[in-house]
Amino acid sequence: MPKRYDAAVIGGGASGIVAAIAAARRGRTVILLERMPRLGKKILITGGGRCNLANENLDPALYTSRAPALVARVFARFGHLPIRLFFKDIGLETVSEGGRVFPATNQAASVLKVLELEIARLAIPVVLNFDVVRIDAPRESFAVHAADGRGVESKSVILTGGGKSYPALGSNGSGYRLAAPFGHDLVLPVPSAVPLLVKDRLCHLLQGQKVRARVSALIDGAVRQAAEGDVLFTVYGLSGTAVLDVSESLSVALHRESGRSLAVSLDLVPFMKAEALAAEFARRLRSGWSAADLLSGILPEKFHLLAADILSGMKVSDHGAAAAALASGLKDKRFPVQGTRGWNEAEFTTGGIDAREVDIATLESRFRKRLHLAGEILDVQGGRGGYNLAWAWASGHVAGESV
Ligand SMILES: Cc1cc2nc3c(=O)[nH]c(=O)nc-3n(C[C@H](O)[C@H](O)[C@H](O)COP(=O)(O)OP(=O)(O)OC[C@H]3O[C@@H](n4cnc5c(N)ncnc54)[C@H](O)[C@@H]3O)c2cc1C
Repeated sequence: MPKRYDAAVIGGGASGIVAAIAAARRGRTVILLERMPRLGKKILITGGGRCNLANENLDPALYTSRAPALVARVFARFGHLPIRLFFKDIGLETVSEGGRVFPATNQAASVLKVLELEIARLAIPVVLNFDVVRIDAPRESFAVHAADGRGVESKSVILTGGGKSYPALGSNGSGYRLAAPFGHDLVLPVPSAVPLLVKDRLCHLLQGQKVRARVSALIDGAVRQAAEGDVLFTVYGLSGTAVLDVSESLSVALHRESGRSLAVSLDLVPFMKAEALAAEFARRLRSGWSAADLLSGILPEKFHLLAADILSGMKVSDHGAAAAALASGLKDKRFPVQGTRGWNEAEFTTGGIDAREVDIATLESRFRKRLHLAGEILDVQGGRGGYNLAWAWASGHVAGESV
């Protein structure tokens, strides 16, 4: 007779690992099932290999979800301090940089290492290359089936299969398909924290150039999100941290709504006010600088292409008008947005299983007793800055404590 576990956790990412630990600490027999050849592959690449594992300010208002009460409840139970204590307890020292929490080692590998040590200490069985394709729940218990015919029986299931971003690391959206037969609905998942497709010869000409800029996402002309940081011009459009930070609203509008006019506006000289910039250009023109040199010392040399674009057809001899046009063109350079890059380049998923369909205290499915959902699989997303891993650990912990 095969062993029946108290809980089977499907998905050995951030959320599933913590869920398994929390359940095992309560004395539950728990098994962790992962479709990849190792646990936590995505954890290793987070934060550029440094793993920005939480944020000191886990204000639920900073998350988008159809279930804000659920987000608030989960963080009320397992917020910034409990997350850091959890990690300290298993051996990870953490430091904060302007609110962003990182491992003191600066290495994402340290985060995964201490999690794996705790899994070993608790003797939690881990089954790798276990690609779950079906969950049967004919009576009280669950039978979890893998693609290769293996199966596991359990009294409860915690589904932490993640979203759709970076499918090569395991999260290929299969968790959504596993939840569907129980009646769970999807808020259409769209790629988020993702580079933008912009058809503009300037992006092509400036490809490889990286500047610090203020980026605004415009939907039907209104600013929806704004961020300051790196902007990278690429052959297909725009990338860089500030672009990723404003991509969510554009991606939602692109993929879920139709007929919207979408654009980004770049303030390429965020460190100077428009008037001061115009005055500086006027001074340069008066002193005889040629149009081709006007941006020198303000933006990288290649940006003279942009200055030439803005000034084309203008009389540069009219110093005041030329200086004002150049200043406003650089403070509000607009690019129409045609699309986003795909799931392979999206740091997280916006959308997922409708979070209103789980109990706010236990993350148990409202449709099936003892089926719990946690992590990125749910329609809960924060911005970049440690918010998404914080949600993964916190919701995983709450689900694990509830089985
Ligand atoms: C490049 C990058 C950088 C990031 N950096 C940060 C950061 O610094 N800070 C931050 O807060 N967030 C960051 N994120 C987001 C964060 O990594 C995710 O939100 C978080 O990992 C989600 O955790 P999860 O456990 O819900 O899902 P995942 O980490 O995606 O884990 C899901 C797991 O389930 C497994 N699985 C899926 N389907 C099945 C199945 N059918 N059977 C068995 N196993 C299955 C997958 O293989 C995977 O291991 C980053 C993401 C990326 C892609």
